[in-house]
Amino acid sequence: MGPQGAGKGTQAARLAERYGVPAISTGDIFRANIKGGTELGRLAQEYSAKGDLVPDSVTNAMVRDRLAEADVARGFILDGYPRNAAQVVELDAILDGLGVSLDAVVELTADRDELLARLSKRAELEGREDDTAEAIARRLDIYDEQTAPLTAAYAERGVLAQVDGIGAIDDVTGRLVAALEPLLS
Ligand code: AMP
Repeated sequence: MGPQGAGKGTQAARLAERYGVPAISTGDIFRANIKGGTELGRLAQEYSAKGDLVPDSVTNAMVRDRLAEADVARGFILDGYPRNAAQVVELDAILDGLGVSLDAVVELTADRDELLARLSKRAELEGREDDTAEAIARRLDIYDEQTAPLTAAYAERGVLAQVDGIGAIDDVTGRLVAALEPLLS
């Protein structure tokens, strides 16, 4: 978990390589579908272009399908899911059905000024449709209102690691690995 621009995608890819498990990014799956012009993509685009969350019915079904694939058998990293309370409930149900439990939840933190600076740089480099000023502000608000409060429940379960996402990419990865160690052993 972490607000847009915290470095979730970058760090999830690094952790996936380190632990030999797939990184599953709901945002990436939506973007691939939007690019491919699929029905799912058309639906997701309406919401994601504005910085809104794609409806839970769509997102949850997509995650359920993805977690039914064979490559998750040795574990997986979710990037960008769950993002609201209903998705937390759904993820618990999906994992229950698979007979697995959540080892760790990581929250990557960064302050809003740093996030805005990173996102405006990403807008220049990648030209993502949802990196407009309005969509960025909307996503950061949704994160604060709906996603950040979810970490309290994970902290209560004893699975939460909070990691400072500011600094060199390698340093942040080092912090993540150190924070995950006690939760994964
Ligand atoms: P991201 O790449 O994680 O920033 O996601 C890009 C966009 O995809 C978000 O702004 C949402 O519109 C959509 N999205 C990604 N993950 C979710 C999710 N868990 N629930 C709803 N919408 C999502």
